[in-house]
Amino acid sequence: MSVTNTKCLIIGSGPAGYTAAIYAARANLSPILLEGPTPGGQLTTTTEVENFPGYPEGVDGPKLMNDLRAQALRFEADIRMARATEVDLSNRPFKVTVDNSETIMADSIIISTGATARYLGLDDEQKYMGMGVSACATCDGFFYRKRTVAVVGGGDTACEEALYLAGLAEKVYLIVRKDYLRASKVMQDRVRKNSKIQILFNCNTEGLFGEEVVEGAHLVENAGTPQEDHFDIKIDGFFLAIGHKPNTDLFAGQIDLDEAGYIKVQSPSTATSVPGVFAAGDVADPHYRQAVVAAGSGCRAALDAERFLLENA
Ligand code: NDP
Repeated sequence: MSVTNTKCLIIGSGPAGYTAAIYAARANLSPILLEGPTPGGQLTTTTEVENFPGYPEGVDGPKLMNDLRAQALRFEADIRMARATEVDLSNRPFKVTVDNSETIMADSIIISTGATARYLGLDDEQKYMGMGVSACATCDGFFYRKRTVAVVGGGDTACEEALYLAGLAEKVYLIVRKDYLRASKVMQDRVRKNSKIQILFNCNTEGLFGEEVVEGAHLVENAGTPQEDHFDIKIDGFFLAIGHKPNTDLFAGQIDLDEAGYIKVQSPSTATSVPGVFAAGDVADPHYRQAVVAAGSGCRAALDAERFLLENA
């Protein structure tokens, strides 16, 4: 197995990883960035991003990520389409195995592995995965043109997905477990004004049905109350938009995580419980989860790593 040494290894792409790479490269740390299984991260599966500063007309998620990547490459960051498969944080330099075939010895590490969409945990989600079940409207919405779909969730993601799908589908159900949407006011207004979207408040999904592909969902309204009601809706697609799980399995047991699995950082720095290891972006952020916040924390992580390397040369 070949061995490469680096002052700074960035694990994970997305706004945090690419921004860390820009700063680390400009600080002459010659960073290596492993892009991981979803190069560019979650924003590559989204539509238009309207709230990233500097784009007054909005920007496509993939374009935004390509721009950040190109900026990191301009300063000669070593960006690799590869994945960390094992890490050993017990000694410095830290040992990271890449695609089970290469070893990188890193004086500092920035973890920016992001978060992944959550599922309800129904057996039927697995049964119909790719056969009507999806957690990415932008990726799969095209298949549901002029058809009927459901989106689960009441946050900004769910509203965004419902609006996107309403542009393609005949009808969109938004299945919300509470009696209100938690999404921002502007997104709520857009959803409410869209005649193709029907919001089903106080509803939970009990299962899905269909011969080979999804043909409908079993729902329960007002579960556990005297008004409890079970009914079915006919749908062709079932989209999950109920939040995310931080991608920290690789580091479990080696670094302090909170009860939800997010990496604990010594705020306001990005230092983790392991000196020399820093965390940036959604993997350490259960609160804001915004691209611009992730980019900002990527900058902080690179500055923290630079200082750490100076003090521990
Ligand atoms: P959120 O955590 O904000 O919302 C998750 C939603 O899913 C909530 O309505 C929640 O219900 C519901 N939910 C969770 N678990 C279940 C379950 N088991 N069954 C049914 N419903 C469930 O996640 P989002 O992904 O929507 O947003 C994350 C962050 O990203 C937020 O800060 C959001 O503002 C931001 N964001 C911003 C966007 C933008 O500005 N363009 C676009 C997308 C996201 P409940 O309310 O009952 O807990």
